[in-house]
Amino acid sequence: MLGVILAGCAGTQSTLAEETVAATELPAIAAVAAAASGDAQVNASDSNRPAQAKSVPLDEPVTERSPEPSFVAKERPPEVAEQVPAGDDATDSVASDTPVEANQPQPLLILNTEVPPATTTRLSWSPSQTLEGIATPTPVLIVNGAQAGPTLCLTGAIHGDELNGIEIIRRVMYNLDPQELSGTVIGVPIVNLQGFHSSSRYLPDRRDLNRYFPGNPRGSSADRIAYSFFNEVVKHCDALVDIHTGSFQRTNLPQVRADLSVPKVLELTQSFGATVVLESQGTKGTLRRAAVEAGIPAATLEAGESMRLQEKSVKHGVNGINTLMSKMGMIERFRIWGDPEPVYYKSEWVRADHGGILLGHAKLGERVEKGELLGVVTDPITNVKSNIYSPYNGRIIGKALDQVVLPGFAAFHVAKESAKRAPPVAVESPAPGTDSVADARPAATASESSTDVELDTE
Ligand SMILES: [Zn+2]
Repeated sequence: MLGVILAGCAGTQSTLAEETVAATELPAIAAVAAAASGDAQVNASDSNRPAQAKSVPLDEPVTERSPEPSFVAKERPPEVAEQVPAGDDATDSVASDTPVEANQPQPLLILNTEVPPATTTRLSWSPSQTLEGIATPTPVLIVNGAQAGPTLCLTGAIHGDELNGIEIIRRVMYNLDPQELSGTVIGVPIVNLQGFHSSSRYLPDRRDLNRYFPGNPRGSSADRIAYSFFNEVVKHCDALVDIHTGSFQRTNLPQVRADLSVPKVLELTQSFGATVVLESQGTKGTLRRAAVEAGIPAATLEAGESMRLQEKSVKHGVNGINTLMSKMGMIERFRIWGDPEPVYYKSEWVRADHGGILLGHAKLGERVEKGELLGVVTDPITNVKSNIYSPYNGRIIGKALDQVVLPGFAAFHVAKESAKRAPPVAVESPAPGTDSVADARPAATASESSTDVELDTE
């Protein structure tokens, strides 16, 4: 069975993770990678039905398992890519897993494994086109609650150098009690494991995985990886949060990006507590856009910068997702923190007109006025300075780190303030002691939506 095969590969994977981490001096990530290593424990005695996942504490050490004999690889079932015709209706595979009785907790059938209610377990997903003998299993953490409810998916490190999401997912998953949970949480902390091992945003062939969803079983390597992940994992989700950071030496204020023209997506974005929301349909091929097109409400959560673990961004992300799960009725009421944040329907990257040393003045999250100085670029040889000003009243939701820049470099991401209100959405009344975020948000209409596509780097 698939789970057994993957478990047999986990020892190799842990070693790789430790080596990579040692080289990049990221001890915290070593713990994450080791803890998250594929560790399915399944009963393979009956080949006619999915193996039932044994309840495994998520923090059980992965090194105590003896290696599986290599010959079990022959028992591997046909890949999903061969079983499902291309372009199959997105809802088909979900239907078979949908609980018949809404109030009864149901086992989750995923990755050839049955995960009973009130169970935590670690499974593995392997892209179907890799060399099977050296396949790198990607850990999938699952907490199936004792009560019925929706399935929320959390994905991190689709770009392998974006670390904050890995830690956000770890904290959220390990804080869940399956006895107290209504519904299921599927967490994939490191989707692009190969990129993670090499501290790279990309897949080994330099393709950006987050431009290939929902994938194609007969396309490029990236197409096939995307197709496999989308069909084997994402189609089980009732809602999805894909976690990213700024890229290319830029950092992002914690923010939710989503296509607010879709009512279910709009509702999802209003459940992240004190988090800025940016209207953005998303570049074609992004996981969240493909998910929405398949009928799964999805949003991107941006937090901080790549190649770093940032406590403030991680805490914000954890609070946001806990608030989301609370609003979805999956966990007990979680007190909403901080002040309500606006929805922004228009944003623009302000560029440097001259090359030189960029030193930023405006801070992340700062409100700026039209004409306000955002930063200064100084030619290191001639000492000629050129100022960068805000084009309108707005908020700094992303910015370049101080660095050497060329003319045209996008330096400050300014979201435009608007006095108009967001379209109304039915949101359940908050528990006593909580603030209603949805009611307080000023926003414009969707027709004003405009985001710099070139730098939509999620
Ligand atoms: Zn990203």
